[in-house]
Amino acid sequence: MSEDVGQESIPEALVRWFRGHHRELPWRREPTPYRVWVSEIMLQQTQVVTVLPYFARWMERFPTVEALAEAPLDDVLALWSGLGYYRRARTLHAAAQQVASTHGGELPGTLEGLLAIPGIGRYTAGAIASIAFGLRAPIVDGNVIRVYARLFGVEGDPTAAATQRRFWALAEELVPAEDPSAYNQAVMELGALVCTPRKPACLLCPVQGRCVAHATGRELELPSPKKAARRRPMHVAAAVVPHPDGGRLLLAQRPAEGLFGGLWELPGVEVSAEAEEVVAASQEALQRLLGAAGEVVGPPLGALEHTLSHIDLVVRPFAVRHVAPEAAAACWERTAWATLEEARGWGLSSIARRALDVAAGVL
Ligand code: SF4
Repeated sequence: MSEDVGQESIPEALVRWFRGHHRELPWRREPTPYRVWVSEIMLQQTQVVTVLPYFARWMERFPTVEALAEAPLDDVLALWSGLGYYRRARTLHAAAQQVASTHGGELPGTLEGLLAIPGIGRYTAGAIASIAFGLRAPIVDGNVIRVYARLFGVEGDPTAAATQRRFWALAEELVPAEDPSAYNQAVMELGALVCTPRKPACLLCPVQGRCVAHATGRELELPSPKKAARRRPMHVAAAVVPHPDGGRLLLAQRPAEGLFGGLWELPGVEVSAEAEEVVAASQEALQRLLGAAGEVVGPPLGALEHTLSHIDLVVRPFAVRHVAPEAAAACWERTAWATLEEARGWGLSSIARRALDVAAGVL
């Protein structure tokens, strides 16, 4: 049943609910600035349940800012492997080096100081400031937007600048001086557990009596839909290049910047072709690149699909035979030979990992 807010203010009702209903999460048990920082970066665009094992492994391997700053980037990417949006890991690593060298390994305890750290935007700064330092700082993320849009009946594309300003103004106004940490976490937790996108559990909601969307039956119409992002198709032909000595496979490292920056994968080439010609064009493009270094064998071993925020990616691995190892390795900029077991311990995107599984079948 709903819990009537009575004379309580909205923040009081939310905090009271949070104290009784929140999930026990490792970064909540010990909310140091570093742990809150890492958890918030991991939780961007990623579900809590996915983040939990990564967070545990991360804290074991990099328990402090200094430990992270001193680690090679390859180790950091390997630990992040499979979590997606790899720029987050690279930025976290670079930021840790900055915090170690200029702040003695301690995150600054002001909003302005936090905002000066690479990769810490307004949301993350607000989360660290309020949760770890107890400062009265607002936060707005996807969960907060959904709760405020419904609770206060805020219309408009939630990604538009004017609507964003409205959400930040509400957050600023509502966050209390007393226990801003509990309040900010309460709004996010309500969005995650009760005020969910498709099935809000309004009967269990501590602010049901104040909610504009609930009063007008518009829970599912708010927040207003975002303008649909358009994704472009991207076709990649990947080469499964076994070393003639047996046991090892050619891997290539992507450039540090851009899509999957710094990660390892089967060496490949992007193919642009009409849909009906893309398979033949992929084999041709790979053969052109390899020249006399190997013979590309068709048909592809599969078509692995992966949806990114702005790209519909399809990777088609092709077996390569009659390999001239030195010439083949020279076809891409940064390459290395590795056994499957070694390669699986490197920084790989989830689609590169799936491509390796396919390659395993022909080794
Ligand atoms: Fe969300 Fe329903 Fe609560 Fe309104 S009453 S804030 S729609 S859960």
